[in-house]
Amino acid sequence: MNNIFDKKESWGKRKRKSQQDKALVEMVKLGYEKSARVKKMLDDAGINPAEIKSCEDLECLPVTSREKLVEMEQQELPYAGLENPDIPIDRIFTSPGPVYEPHLSETDYLWARAFFAAGIGQKDIALCAFSYHLVAAGLTFHNGLRKVGATVVPSGASSSQIQVQLIKDLKVTAYVGTPSFLKAIIDKSKEMGFEFKKDFLVKKACFAAEPLLPDLRRSFENDYGIDTYQMYGATEVGDVAYECSEKKGWHICEETIVEIVDPATGKNVHNGELGEVVVTRLNNIFFLLRFGTGDLSRLITEDCPCGRTSYRLAGIAGRVGDAVKVRGLFVAPSQLKMLQAKFNNLPLQAVVRRTGHEDVLTLRIEKFSPEIGSTSWEENFKKVFREICTVGINNLEYLRAGEIKPEEKLIVDQRKW
Ligand SMILES: [Zn+2]
Repeated sequence: MNNIFDKKESWGKRKRKSQQDKALVEMVKLGYEKSARVKKMLDDAGINPAEIKSCEDLECLPVTSREKLVEMEQQELPYAGLENPDIPIDRIFTSPGPVYEPHLSETDYLWARAFFAAGIGQKDIALCAFSYHLVAAGLTFHNGLRKVGATVVPSGASSSQIQVQLIKDLKVTAYVGTPSFLKAIIDKSKEMGFEFKKDFLVKKACFAAEPLLPDLRRSFENDYGIDTYQMYGATEVGDVAYECSEKKGWHICEETIVEIVDPATGKNVHNGELGEVVVTRLNNIFFLLRFGTGDLSRLITEDCPCGRTSYRLAGIAGRVGDAVKVRGLFVAPSQLKMLQAKFNNLPLQAVVRRTGHEDVLTLRIEKFSPEIGSTSWEENFKKVFREICTVGINNLEYLRAGEIKPEEKLIVDQRKW
């Protein structure tokens, strides 16, 4: 196939930076000319569009959250005046809010990078079990599957029974949808008397829109022989990142600029620190600069063994509101869950207090086995904690088994401001 997906990335490392900078300069210039909203935003911030010369310069512009976008669109229906009026819009999608999204183009490569990385191609018959009704998911995933040459079964939101029927009759090899729906389909197939792994040919699954929990992933892979991949994006900005076969972080699509910022200030955090994922999709139709996803993640800047040189997102650590900032760094409940998983589901709780001008982080831990609390155990625990949460622990406090109630929060912020 003669398209950009006959190789892993179409731009090399240096070229990526220069192409992104160039595309951003063009987007800002065009946005300023075509959109009164963009012009006002830059004028209000006292910025001449010519001052935006590279991705780093984006930081001086405000972040637009989904809530803000909804508000802006309601003031100026349907796209808040962020669109290019000279270019006809192919399709209009909507998502809860309501927020209206002009689909950039039917000829784009949305999600195709993700499917290519998952090894989906011409030999595949893919079930696209995302809704095609109003929302962007069904049609855009469908398009991406077509771009890598797969045959698509647009099963959408059909019942799990119909999905099982299609998987069986059409010899489906790949599933695209949410993890929970695949689980429901597998359960339904059992009910219908099938043995999913033996009777069907589904060997790959690409998931989005929902977290893929480690237990469920293990079950798909080990119990059902399905190789699983995660994809990440938002309807406002399209595809953002995807997993490769290494499954160690999600490669960022080169058509998007991803910043990891402190949600309070909109400024970029240091490399490797947790912050809000802010996305600018480089395009000439919809000038949504710095869309704040509300998701927390951190950047992995090392090259991946798969050969791709793009930066990666280290999964999604939760939503901005769930995280607590300790000594300037965010700690999210999902990070603590990850930590628990590494220590046999150790019951624990993080408590943040303030002593003088310092944040003090205490980890309360249930001593449910004898080795917990030994010097070597503590050393290892603190090391792993720092690897996962970036920040260090000040105190460890040991409790009896059962003292932390299941309904209690994983992170408790006891600071008074
Ligand atoms: Zn990779």
